[in-house]
Amino acid sequence: MTRLLDSVGAKTLWHQGWYGPAQHLESPNFDLRPPGSAVELLVVHSISLPPGEFSNGNVQRLFTNQLDCGQHPYFELLRGLRVSAHFFVARTGELWQFVSCDVRAWHAGLSTFCGRDNCNDYSIGIEMEGLEGYGFDSPQYQSLATLCRAIILNYPVRHIAGHEHVAPGRKHDPGPGFDWPLLQEQLAASGTHAIQFPQDFPGNL
Ligand SMILES: [Zn+2]
Repeated sequence: MTRLLDSVGAKTLWHQGWYGPAQHLESPNFDLRPPGSAVELLVVHSISLPPGEFSNGNVQRLFTNQLDCGQHPYFELLRGLRVSAHFFVARTGELWQFVSCDVRAWHAGLSTFCGRDNCNDYSIGIEMEGLEGYGFDSPQYQSLATLCRAIILNYPVRHIAGHEHVAPGRKHDPGPGFDWPLLQEQLAASGTHAIQFPQDFPGNL
C-alpha cells in the first residue's frame, strides 16, 4: 500500500516530464528521444564553471546558451558548444531542471552502456556541482537521492552510472570523490531497490 501511495504521490510531482520541486529554466538544447526508447539509465555528472568555482550561475548560463565565453579563458573551450542536462544539483542541494525528462538532453556525448550506444537516447542526465577528484556536499546527496527516487517511481530506470563509466577514457566525472555507496544506501533506506550501481558490476560497463 505504501508503495502504491508513493507511486500516486510521485505521479503528481511530474508534469510532462518536469519535476515539480525543481526550479525550471528551459534549455533550447534538446530533441526527441528515438521512438520506442524508454528511460532506463541515470547518468551522474559533475560540473563547475570555471572548474572549482561554485554558485555563480555559469552552469545555468551554459545550459541555456547564455554563457559569455569571453569572460574567462576556460570558457573559450566551450564556445559554440550546445549542451544540456536534465538536472543540476547545486552545492546547497538546490535543484534545477533544464529539459523535460520525456525528451533527450545533450549530456553524455559519445557513450556506451552495456553495449548500447548513445546513452542520451535512453537516459536522464544529472549534473552535480563539483570538481572531479573532490567531494560533494551532504545536501547534494540528499537532494540527488530524493530526485533519483522520484525519477525511479516515474520512469523504468534500472541502472545508475557515472559519465566516466559510459565514456571511459574520454570523461572522468563525477570522479573518485563521488560516494556511490552513500547514494545506494540513501536510496535503499527510502525503499528503492533493484537498481544497479557501478559498484554492482565493476569492469562490466
Ligand atoms: Zn559529464
